[in-house]
Amino acid sequence: MRDWVESLVERIKPLETAVNRAWWDAAVTGSHADYERLERFRNELDDLFRDPAVAEPLARARDASPDDPALARSIELLWLEALPRQVDAALSERINRLATEIERDFAIYRPRFEGSDTSQNDLEEVLARETDEARLREAWEALKTVGPRVAPRLRELVELRNTAARAVGHDDFWRLKLALGEQDPDAVGTVFDRLDALTAEPFRELKDEIDERLAARLGVEPAGLRPWHYQDPFFQGAPAVFGVDLDGFYETVDLVDVARRFFAGIGLDVEAILASSSLYEAPGKDPHAFATDIDREGDIRILLNLRPNERWMGTTLHELGHAVYDAGIDPALPWLLRRPAHTVTTEAMAMLFGRLSKSADWMRDMGVVGVDDADALREPTSRELRAQMLVFSRWAQVMMRFERGLYADPDQDLEALWWSLVERNQLVERPDRPEGTADWASKIHVVAAPVYYHNYLLGECFASQVDAALQAEVLAAEATYCGNAAVGEWLAEHVFRPGGSWHYDELSRRATGAPIAPEAFAEQFLAEVPR
Ligand SMILES: [Zn+2]
Repeated sequence: MRDWVESLVERIKPLETAVNRAWWDAAVTGSHADYERLERFRNELDDLFRDPAVAEPLARARDASPDDPALARSIELLWLEALPRQVDAALSERINRLATEIERDFAIYRPRFEGSDTSQNDLEEVLARETDEARLREAWEALKTVGPRVAPRLRELVELRNTAARAVGHDDFWRLKLALGEQDPDAVGTVFDRLDALTAEPFRELKDEIDERLAARLGVEPAGLRPWHYQDPFFQGAPAVFGVDLDGFYETVDLVDVARRFFAGIGLDVEAILASSSLYEAPGKDPHAFATDIDREGDIRILLNLRPNERWMGTTLHELGHAVYDAGIDPALPWLLRRPAHTVTTEAMAMLFGRLSKSADWMRDMGVVGVDDADALREPTSRELRAQMLVFSRWAQVMMRFERGLYADPDQDLEALWWSLVERNQLVERPDRPEGTADWASKIHVVAAPVYYHNYLLGECFASQVDAALQAEVLAAEATYCGNAAVGEWLAEHVFRPGGSWHYDELSRRATGAPIAPEAFAEQFLAEVPR
């Protein structure tokens, strides 16, 4: 059985590497040829797993459950790869083609704003900085114009994904995706409900404060605030209303150099990663950010579109967090286990580091601000980070609940579902919108990373658990991670090295003493005076 698995891996490895390379090239160039190559390799990988000569022995091997834990885990992971591919080849190809096509539309789309084609980055900067009502509204509406362009095909994609999910015995695609991630829908729902209950009241208070400050800044009544006033297309981050403008401090530093020094200081070298990465904006390039492990043999890259501001400092740390995790996985593990335990654990590591760009002490230790500035910034920045976490947690509730509803009943009024969730969870009022808008379709994750968002919030929970463990086991009181190589060593030993050897709750139990739960997150961020 071991030989058979190894020979199968020898077929998967080159194809998966080819998919990753094509994905990378497509994101960097935006070229049609690269997107076509991506689609072709994805289809080849699908065909391999669909082949009955692969799928049938795999199902038998899984039933036989071999004694060797690494072999059993490898077979389980292979089976989870194969399961969604047990659908009709034509259906699967349609899904891939449609998803790739919509993704490309998102990547190359340049909304019209004030008479010219504009980048998403530029529009987001208008939202973040502008105070003029008309310009704000126009920028926000411009960002939403991608919705109606993709919505009909996105609906079709949802139907096709559901059809495929039913073909392999699941009620809908949302439930299938959770099963493929070894997640129990009820357990995930319970964590979200508990977080909802824990955050509802603190968020309401915070939102009142945000509204008051925003309204004063914009010269409107709090009751007159609309989605374009929150400085972000989805209100997924907290607006800068706590008297801290960290962008000014980051404007004059080399973000890449800060990140490089920080990771070197905690004993995690990112030199090779940065050397093969794509860091700056370019025509046709995907305007978002991601990290990718191309071959599980050391070719690890991040894609950024750097601008000298706090958000991109945080994003750089976030993507490098994914990358150092990939780089820290034990190379002696079987290839199949040379991956993070789960999306949740890799997002957690990314978030653990991504949070630091808002920490006054971290900024001081990295030389971004002086001691006096750090003292002045400590209180407002920790208030802002707390706000950030609360606001994000409410936004993640919207996304999880929207996607659950989207796949459970795609024929419902999705625009109404979207806005009712926004109103309930984010306390943002639905604006008057013209006929034919599809704001729900303007979030790229629904296309490109479907049923993924819940993992971000579970990741925040795990990040807080890991932070608490680091505080208890590694850090002296009040010390930051900076310059402490024991931080990298602890993470490598407890989180990175085991790769995909265990389910994430088992990894969490071994690393932090408990499965992933909302309590450490609540303890870290919901107190009135955050740590
Ligand atoms: Zn991430």
